Amino acid sequence: MSQEPLFIRMHEADNVAIVANDGGLPAGTAFPSGLVLREKVPQGHKVALVDLPSGAAVKRYDVTIGYALQDIPAGSWVHERLLRMPEARTLEALPMATARRAPAAPLAGYTFEGYRNPDGSVGTRNILAITQSVQCVAGVTRFAIERIKAQLLPKYPNVDDVVALEHGYGCGVAIDAPDAVIPIRTLRNISLNPNFGGEVMVVSLGCEKLQPERLLPPGSIPIADQRGEPQELDVVCLQDEAHVGFMSMVDSIVRQAETHLRRLNARRRETVPASELVVGVQCGGSDAFSGVTANPAVGFCTDLLVRAGATVMFSETTEVRDGVAQLTARAATPEVAQAIVREMAWYDAYLKRGSVDRSANTTPGNKKGGLSNIVEKAMGSIVKSGSARIDGVLAPGEKLKQKGLVYAATPASDFICGTLQLAAGMNLHVFTTGRGTPYGLAEVPVIKVATRSDLARRWHDLMDIDAGTIAEGKATIEQVGWEMFRLMLEVASGRKKTWAEQWKLHNQLVLFNPAPVT
Ligand code: CA
Repeated sequence: MSQEPLFIRMHEADNVAIVANDGGLPAGTAFPSGLVLREKVPQGHKVALVDLPSGAAVKRYDVTIGYALQDIPAGSWVHERLLRMPEARTLEALPMATARRAPAAPLAGYTFEGYRNPDGSVGTRNILAITQSVQCVAGVTRFAIERIKAQLLPKYPNVDDVVALEHGYGCGVAIDAPDAVIPIRTLRNISLNPNFGGEVMVVSLGCEKLQPERLLPPGSIPIADQRGEPQELDVVCLQDEAHVGFMSMVDSIVRQAETHLRRLNARRRETVPASELVVGVQCGGSDAFSGVTANPAVGFCTDLLVRAGATVMFSETTEVRDGVAQLTARAATPEVAQAIVREMAWYDAYLKRGSVDRSANTTPGNKKGGLSNIVEKAMGSIVKSGSARIDGVLAPGEKLKQKGLVYAATPASDFICGTLQLAAGMNLHVFTTGRGTPYGLAEVPVIKVATRSDLARRWHDLMDIDAGTIAEGKATIEQVGWEMFRLMLEVASGRKKTWAEQWKLHNQLVLFNPAPVT
């Protein structure tokens, strides 16, 4: 970062800006504009550009992020204790599909090397995933997978990995509750992720509520359908009387796994158009730079992907709730706008049942990073969706049936969001972070983008892209967006591994279960 004191204002109507310099700036610092700091302001935190009288609307991104609780003179540090948060926009009288955006010019000629599945979907990795119907079998499956990796994987060099789809569901759950549909379809649809090539095998205990036939009913594996294979679900049931002793269970899992490994090993990469990318974008450990550097670069890249005919999912409902009017306006049709409202209303009610609201979202780290509240965080988060029209909406755990820009409604929790995007059919994940997180998934490559160069330097072997160069004036949003797009094609092709893949940083799958447990 240059020594020159620098603040970043997002919009000319804004009356606050954030301090860009590493380590923040001391009291008395004079900016080229003539503004003088009245107190020390940490990096990423806001400074008042003009005198803000008590009650004044404080604006960033040309949006009111709060109201001054007292007089705030120009040059003051505007932190969250000085602001009252605005009420959430109601879901009434929203602009529905009013933006009427014409699709941008197609972006042709970009390809990657992927695994084409018989149902037309494309994988970016070649992984044997072992589905579990209940948490009880997790230890046995893990043991068996160690053995599969040691004894079988060397014989099948085209297979990248063997992964257990481990979770806490299946036992002691109110399986017929209306909301139980969410965790159940999530698990089902994850088993069908394009990276697993339709090779579904299930390890079951036997007495669990979530029986394998309920998890994957006949006809639910389209890839196997297209291959004309028998519809018998491949299940290893640990309570089966044929199993005598632990090792016989392990042997069954290993034996069944080999059938699938043999078929997966025959998969070959082929050149496919960039339109086969299914990218899930999310952020975590956000700071005030998220909405200045990394997320706008993701948004630019989202537009490139949509122009290339690919699918991009943005999610994290509490982080886009305050921008609902922008989203409904951008919907391709009134039906899509209605679906956005439906998902937001469902989520509002879900939060209300737990006696909280969207303000429960911001973390101590967000605040330390300069984000005063969820309104400010949301304005920085929503830019990941770029500017394209919104073509579709997915409820939590649903599988994609279309291309283009899709709002996949999920909680903002990094693991739950990632898990639900996997279920939707994501084959590549992009994750931005300002505070820093080593997030990664075993099932898809995760490209991590740092919002600040200081983080990118310290976490040089964890961050794949440094978007902090945008704040330093060394690169533009467009340049970093293109860098991201090109890196995606390299990673999707298997020519490049992300840092999270290199170190095998694999976070758990976490199911979203709004239904009761018993
Ligand atoms: Ca998140």
